[in-house]
Amino acid sequence: MRICVLGSGSRGNAVYVGAGPCHLLIDAGFSPRQLQLRLAPLGVGLGDLTAVCLTHEHADHARSALALNRRFGVALYANAGTIDGLGPAAADAPWHVFSTGFPFRIGEVTVEPFSVSHDALDPVGFALAWEETRVGVALDLGMATQLTRERLRGAHALVVESNHDEGLLLQAPRPWTLKQRIRSHQGHLSNRETAALLEEVAGPQLRQVFLAHLSEECNSEGLALDSARQALTACGCGHTAVAATRADRPSDVWTAWALAAG
Ligand SMILES: [Zn+2]
Ligand SMILES: [Zn+2]
Repeated sequence: MRICVLGSGSRGNAVYVGAGPCHLLIDAGFSPRQLQLRLAPLGVGLGDLTAVCLTHEHADHARSALALNRRFGVALYANAGTIDGLGPAAADAPWHVFSTGFPFRIGEVTVEPFSVSHDALDPVGFALAWEETRVGVALDLGMATQLTRERLRGAHALVVESNHDEGLLLQAPRPWTLKQRIRSHQGHLSNRETAALLEEVAGPQLRQVFLAHLSEECNSEGLALDSARQALTACGCGHTAVAATRADRPSDVWTAWALAAG
């Protein structure tokens, strides 16, 4: 299995998960052109994509899902709440509708959608499994519930939001209502909250953490990385590699054969 965060932030989110012949996108929050450019180094074209699985209906996650289906025949997976949230244009698309909490298969990949706390109609994270490899993806979440922690535990690689530094958010020249939304249990995880989550779910098998959805105004790669690395070291997981992801370019690729090497 290989993972590449094609981009992440309030301007767009998409995570590539390759597993044998299966090429999945978790979210499609960039234009088809951008997705094509960012997939090219992986040797994957838009027409090669097997499916897009949506976490929720916000445009920075779902922007191009319908276009990928219409123009390239990519299968669409979402729950009924997300499809509703996308509005009338999505109603007639040929969705594969999943139920939150119930695992389903795409080819050889088992995909388990689990409920997360965020201000969308039925937002989810995904626990993915293929052969021996397990990956957890939790992109927009206001708090790490017990369920979230359980579903992310035991993963070899995690893509998890580390949105803001709490101090920088308070100082930022933003309307108080927006700050409250971000801080709320249905908003976005701070570096501190992400660190606490990592400390709880990390284990000896965890090889790679991608920090996602960093705020451009209220965070920095240095702050997010330091916070996550400190937490991982504190819980005996100093071996786990941590990378900050960006909206304007893809991450490095993580491959599961690193399991054997590491
Ligand atoms: Zn969102
Ligand atoms: Zn988002």
